[in-house]
Amino acid sequence: MSVPEAVKLDEAAFTELARSFRGELIRPEDPAYHERRSVWNGSIDRSPALIARCQHVADVIAAVTFARRTGVRVAVRGGGHSFPGLSVCDRGLVIDLGPMKGIRVDPETRTATAQAGVLIGELDGATQEHRLAVPAGIVTHTGVAGLTLGGGIGWLHRKHGLTIDGLLSVDLITAEGERVRASERENPDLFWGVRGGGGNFGVVTEFEFRARPVGPIVLAGPIFWRMEDSPRVLRFYRDWISDPPDELMTIVILRKAPSLPYVPAELHGKPVVGVACCYAGPVEEGERAVQPIRSFGSPVLDLCQPKPFTEHQAMFDSSYPHGRWYYFRACDVAALTDEVIDITVEHAARIKSPLTSFPIWQMGGAVSRVADDETAFSGRGAGHTFNINGITESADGFDDEREWVRRFWSDLEPHQTTTYVNFLMDEGEERIREAYGTEKYDPDNLFRLNQNIPP
Ligand SMILES: Cc1cc2nc3c(=O)[nH]c(=O)nc-3n(C[C@H](O)[C@H](O)[C@H](O)COP(=O)(O)OP(=O)(O)OC[C@H]3O[C@@H](n4cnc5c(N)ncnc54)[C@H](O)[C@@H]3O)c2cc1C
Repeated sequence: MSVPEAVKLDEAAFTELARSFRGELIRPEDPAYHERRSVWNGSIDRSPALIARCQHVADVIAAVTFARRTGVRVAVRGGGHSFPGLSVCDRGLVIDLGPMKGIRVDPETRTATAQAGVLIGELDGATQEHRLAVPAGIVTHTGVAGLTLGGGIGWLHRKHGLTIDGLLSVDLITAEGERVRASERENPDLFWGVRGGGGNFGVVTEFEFRARPVGPIVLAGPIFWRMEDSPRVLRFYRDWISDPPDELMTIVILRKAPSLPYVPAELHGKPVVGVACCYAGPVEEGERAVQPIRSFGSPVLDLCQPKPFTEHQAMFDSSYPHGRWYYFRACDVAALTDEVIDITVEHAARIKSPLTSFPIWQMGGAVSRVADDETAFSGRGAGHTFNINGITESADGFDDEREWVRRFWSDLEPHQTTTYVNFLMDEGEERIREAYGTEKYDPDNLFRLNQNIPP
């Protein structure tokens, strides 16, 4: 691969940065550059002037100071999973927190701290050693940092709330390069903002969470029917979850069945509708809770069974690997009305790519019992969150998938309520404002490469 067009850095400032920086500083001519600039979404191709792989908090402060001094654009990276690739920029500085992997779990106080480079699977691995979990996302290679700053939904949110609902404090480096702590008691307005307000306020270096008792064995997994049954399955599903226990969390999946070892060969490539479940309580109770849906109609595959929570957390990993081309549009709806179901079924039947797989998340439970003005997250009243995504292996067929996503989303427009900031693409300021509130930190907007609100 060729080195992108040379980007001029302020060499004096760079020399100064290099003097104290303990992590890795990567420039376009370095062998690691192409690997390090890439992010999860393969359709994003950007070439920063410098990637600062921070090892310690002091590295983050040095990188922020360098950015202020030189005026370069800054992108901040946790796990690199931003759908529109906000954690990499052209010609600017990437402050990459990936190497900051510290995790501490205290089973006595049921708390866990994670540095900003920790991935969901790494945090789950450490907490599950004590039969605890921090409610977070459903794909193990997602970054804890970006996910938390936007809110954080997953298999446990109905029982234990969003990731931010169990956030106790953050350590953050401001645009001035100052280290501050934010919690309910210290800098409470900043703490309000980081809970759902994205990366608008500074670089978070460490998160402290409440951890909840979970597993280690949970009743979990998907049950599938043929796509032609989806109008009936989705109506039955809607009625079944009309008064659910908080422990029960479900995600509807519509896709062509993947060619995976546990999927019977005759289903490979056939359109299916699935209801994936996770019961965050005793397995026997979970068996009773899922019985109605698993005995509805004629399922073609039932993988809902007792399993380690960490195994369930990895269920979607193979559907969303690094490097594929992804395009997303998302929205919340109040309910799966007949109209919403009909639109969903119509568009699901038109999926072309064998890789496209889109989830509809069940919301409610503990999420809806926190007041809207307690955090910067918006959408606590949502019934379901649509995360429509088109996926291809490469540029081939990507335009068609993207068009499919856009049409589907547009047809849902009359039914849309709120939107989840972590599921936004590049959709403009109005959509971002819909997704959260206001800010007073970072008045010069140094940290603008996120779903940004200009001051
Ligand atoms: C495969 C996949 C699965 C997902 N599953 C879920 C899910 O189950 N639940 C859910 O809620 N969301 C989910 N998401 C969405 C996810 O929450 C967002 O993409 C999130 O931004 C990813 O965080 P990251 O650290 O990996 O991303 P990055 O791309 O590194 O960062 C995302 C944004 O956060 C900012 N940021 C990152 N780290 C910091 C920091 N330390 N300080 C300040 N700003 C920072 C970045 O600047 C950027 O704007 C998923 C995304 C993917 C790609």
